[in-house]
Amino acid sequence: MSGSREDVLRRVAHRHGTPCFVYFAEEIESRIDLVRRAFGDRLRLSYAVKSNPHSAILGLLGRRIGSLDISSIGEMYRGIAAGWSPGRMSFTGPAKRPFELEEAVRNGVGLMICESEDEIRDLDRIAAAAGRVQEYLVRVAPATLPRGFGVSMSGKPSQFGIDEDLVPGTIERTRGLRHARLVGFHAYAGTQCLNVDALVANLVNCADFFTRFSALAGIEPRAFIFGSGFGIPYHEGMQPLDLAAVAAGVVPRLDALRSDPRLAKTELVLELGRYLVGEAGVFLTSVLRVKESRGVTVGICDGGMNHHLGACGHLGSVLHRNYRMRNLSRSGPKPGAGVTLVGPLCTSIDTLAHDADLPAPRPGDAIAIECSGAYGQTSSPASFISHPIASEVLVEGDRITPLADESRTHLDLAPERAR
Ligand SMILES: *Cc1c(COP(=O)(O)O)cnc(C)c1O
Repeated sequence: MSGSREDVLRRVAHRHGTPCFVYFAEEIESRIDLVRRAFGDRLRLSYAVKSNPHSAILGLLGRRIGSLDISSIGEMYRGIAAGWSPGRMSFTGPAKRPFELEEAVRNGVGLMICESEDEIRDLDRIAAAAGRVQEYLVRVAPATLPRGFGVSMSGKPSQFGIDEDLVPGTIERTRGLRHARLVGFHAYAGTQCLNVDALVANLVNCADFFTRFSALAGIEPRAFIFGSGFGIPYHEGMQPLDLAAVAAGVVPRLDALRSDPRLAKTELVLELGRYLVGEAGVFLTSVLRVKESRGVTVGICDGGMNHHLGACGHLGSVLHRNYRMRNLSRSGPKPGAGVTLVGPLCTSIDTLAHDADLPAPRPGDAIAIECSGAYGQTSSPASFISHPIASEVLVEGDRITPLADESRTHLDLAPERAR
C-alpha cells in the first residue's frame, strides 16, 4: 500500500466513518488495461455483476467493457439503472424462474445462458409466447478441471450447467426448437486460481469442447464465453497472477480458433468478477474495545462477518486464513501471542483475523483489509443481529464520493410477480 493510498484510507475512516468499503476507480481501470494489454482484442471482457453490483461500479465499467453477466432479474434491473442495455447482458443461473425468463426475453437480453435441457424448452415456449427468437448459449459443466482452483465446481454432481458428456444428447433433442436458438457455449467451473498452468489448461480445454460442440450442433457460433476463474492474492505471501504468462499460454489457441472459418464471427468473451474489482477495494473497520484473554490481544471491531463474510473465511474456504490487512493508526511489532480481531456479532465465527501480524491495537484504531472490492457488502449476512450496514465510497483521484445505500435495491425493483 503506497503512502498516498493509506492517506486516503485514513481520511475516509476519519470523515466518513467505519465500517466502510472503499473502491479505487483508477485501480479498476488499470486492471482492465492490464487484461487488454495481455490479450489484445482477442477477448472481449464481461463482468459478473454478483461480485460487486453497486451502480457506481457498474456505471464505471459500462464505459470500458463489453458486457455484463447477470445471475438474477434483480441484477438485470441494477444494470439497466446503471445505464446498461439488456442487449449487452448475458443471463446465467441454474434457478431462473419463469417470470425471470419472461422479463429477460421481453427486455431483449443479449444472451440467455441455459443450464439445463428443461430450461431450454421453457425458454423456447416463453420466447414463442413473446413472439421472439431468443439466442442462448449452453453452459457446459466440464468433466475435468485442472488442480489449482481454490473453488471447483467440476467433476462432481453440480447444479451448474449441463454435464459435458450430456451436452451432445441435449443438442440433438433440442435441435428442432424454433424460438430458442443455440448460438454458442459457456463454461465457468472453478475460480480463485493463481496457477498459470491450470488456467491455461482449463481455457484450452474449454476452447476444445466449445469447438467440438459447435461442429456437432452445426452452428457458426456467435459467442464463446470463458469464465476466467482468475484469482487474486487474498493472503499474505500469495503472488499475484502472472497474467502475461497466462496470455502467452492461451493466445496460440485463441488465434487457432480465429483462423477456423466456422469461427470467424465468433466473439470470444472472458468473464471476470473478482479479478476486475477485488483488489481495488478495501474494507475499513475501527477497533472499539481491546481485551487480553488467555494471553491473546483481542480487538473487537465495528465491522465483521455481517459486512464481510469472506474475510471471516465463510465464503467457500475450508480453513480461515487472514486477508492481507494493516493497522492504519500505528506500527510496531506484533505482541507475543499475536492479535485476534473480531467483529460485533455474538458468535465466535465472526473473526476477521486469527494471530495476525499486527501491532497491539488500541480503541479507535482503523484497520484496512485488502482484497475487499468483490464479494463484500452484498455477499454478507447484513441483517444478522441488526447492526447498521457498512457504508461505501468511491475514490477517483482526490475525490471521495459517498455511495448510495443500495442494499435493498433488488427488492424494490422486483415486480410483484417475483413472489
Ligand atoms: C460468479 C461468476 C463469475 C465470476 O467469478 P469470479 O470468481 O469473481 O471471477 C463468472 N461467471 C459466472 C457465471 C459466475 O457465476
